[in-house]
Amino acid sequence: MHDFVVNLFSTGSFIPHGHCYLWKPGLVWLHLTSDAIIALAYYSIPLTLFYFVRKRQDLPFSWIFLLFAAFIIFCGTTHIAEIWTLWHPTYWLSGIIKVATAIVSLFTAIELVLLLPQALALPSPLQLREANKALQTEIEERLRIENQLRRLQDELEQRVQARTAQLVKLNQQLQQEIDERQRAEAALRASRERLVLAQQVGKIGTYEWNLQTGELIWTEEMEALFGLAPGSFEGSNEHWLQRLHPDDRADADYAAQRTITQGAELDTELRIMLPDGRIRWVAAKAKIFADGGQPERLIGVNMDITEHKEVQQELQQTLQTLSTLIQASPLPIVVVEPNMTVRLWSLAAEQLFGWSAAEVLGQPIPLVPQEKPEKCCQFQEAIATGKVFTGVQKYHCQRDGSTVVVSISTTPLYDEQNNFKWILLIFQDITEQQAIEKMKNEFISIVSHELRTPLTAIQGFLGLLNTGIYDNRPDKAKRMIGQALTNSDRLVRLVNDILDLERLSSGRVQLIKEVCNAADLMQRAVEGVQSIALAAAVTILITPTTACVWACADLIIQTLTNLLSNAIKFSPRDSVITLSAQPQTDWVLFAVTDQGRGIPADKLETIFERFEQVDVSDARAKGGTGLGLAICQSIIQQHDGSIWAKSTLSEGSTFYFTLPIRVC
Ligand code: ADP
Repeated sequence: MHDFVVNLFSTGSFIPHGHCYLWKPGLVWLHLTSDAIIALAYYSIPLTLFYFVRKRQDLPFSWIFLLFAAFIIFCGTTHIAEIWTLWHPTYWLSGIIKVATAIVSLFTAIELVLLLPQALALPSPLQLREANKALQTEIEERLRIENQLRRLQDELEQRVQARTAQLVKLNQQLQQEIDERQRAEAALRASRERLVLAQQVGKIGTYEWNLQTGELIWTEEMEALFGLAPGSFEGSNEHWLQRLHPDDRADADYAAQRTITQGAELDTELRIMLPDGRIRWVAAKAKIFADGGQPERLIGVNMDITEHKEVQQELQQTLQTLSTLIQASPLPIVVVEPNMTVRLWSLAAEQLFGWSAAEVLGQPIPLVPQEKPEKCCQFQEAIATGKVFTGVQKYHCQRDGSTVVVSISTTPLYDEQNNFKWILLIFQDITEQQAIEKMKNEFISIVSHELRTPLTAIQGFLGLLNTGIYDNRPDKAKRMIGQALTNSDRLVRLVNDILDLERLSSGRVQLIKEVCNAADLMQRAVEGVQSIALAAAVTILITPTTACVWACADLIIQTLTNLLSNAIKFSPRDSVITLSAQPQTDWVLFAVTDQGRGIPADKLETIFERFEQVDVSDARAKGGTGLGLAICQSIIQQHDGSIWAKSTLSEGSTFYFTLPIRVC
């Protein structure tokens, strides 16, 4: 072995291959370069193959590529050996390399031939593309089928749901039907029992009328209802209509004909004339029974309802009487349901609240209480629960929006079964009464206040005089008596004014109205105040007029006197007061104008109120009571006129009033 290896690498007696080329450099280089490039190319190819095999792990028959690589490396090595042997004649070695190359080449060639059928069996890219396309089509088809399946499934689910809902509904309907049937059966049972009971006590009679043959069969109970002895009814020969009250015959005949011709159920109430002359009320019901569309028999039931009718008539009469009484009552009466719906609204209620019965019947009660919530609650609770309630309420009226004060009492009304049904409201208008009471109270308190001052003064002076300490001082005593007299004068005036005003506002003064000449009235008033006008050095001028008024002369003179007295009181000396009466369309306008101190603008309206004075101490010093203008206003209002004042401070005032005009 050792010798073989030595021989393998020894050049021996061989000559280098270059000699064959006679060491011609061109030839040597030609071989050398070609072999070198071939070898280089051969070595590079396996690298590419290795890279390819590594990258394509899925490659079939990858081992054949590796075999190619080995075969190419060997081929390349033979070319290296060619270059080597140019100078080094190790031909054994190059021969061995060739042998190895031959073995690998042969093996590769054989393997390749064997592999050919399998390689041919591999799908070509075209086939792959086709297969891919087919696959794609198959996938799409699958998706389409899947979608279709899903849709079908959805539809199926919906159908199942709809069907289930239908079944549930059907079930409910069925249950309802069962319930209704049970109810109807129970009602039928009850009515049958009633029928049997009623027949037993002879209150229900039945009959059958054969419409084809005209045969009419009455039961014994039916005969009893008509007051006939059993078996005495003559059937078709007898005209049953003749046994009815004459007023009911036409209606009964018409109802029976309608039932026969139109098939409508007969349902009416009739009066039977009993042989002894009494009248019996029956409720008559009948039905047609047809055979093949042709009316064959009429079966009817008659029930005695005389007692019920009598009770009903009595009730009707009672209600009628009650309604008449309520309507005629001077007290406003209203009947409401617990939910406040109006059922009855009397005439007096119409007059008091301003809504007509037609407007409120069947509607919620229109009265809006103006009370504190707790008071309203008690009233409303009484209506809702049927409790008895008595109290005072204030309401807005529909007609003019004004307020009425009423005393109210509620009484619950019950039906036959003693169920609370309605509530009866009885009102009493106490608006005026309350207003008068209020006015009187105010008046009394003011009057007491006004009377107290002069009375206290009189009392004081008289007390002092009574002690006797001024008996030897007559001047002082005189002054005191003078003061007491002044105060008592004022008291007398005040009391007179109060009485005047009270008589006027209570309507107790009889106004005797007549056609009065305005110039006359003014003249007589001026004559009455002339002395005080002279004392005050004031001139009164009357503007000539021909106007006439419809008035109570004395009261108008009193008004003019009051106004003139005031004008004189509040005018400076040597001033002028004018008096005029101008006719207008419907009125005569009187005016009293002075050149006095005037009245502040904010007092112009209030001075007509009782005890209102601009300067209280000055007015009292002048003997004023604060009631003069209130009396004037009351007199003018009683004449349907109006009174007012205009004034400019320090320049003077004019008091106007109007009276209805009349032709003299
Ligand atoms: P009195 O008795 O106080 O005069 P009246 O009711 O007649 O009461 O008048 C009320 C008040 O009106 C007077 O106190 C006064 O202040 C004012 N008054 C009335 N008339 C006149 C007037 N012509 N000029 C100025 N003030 C007047």
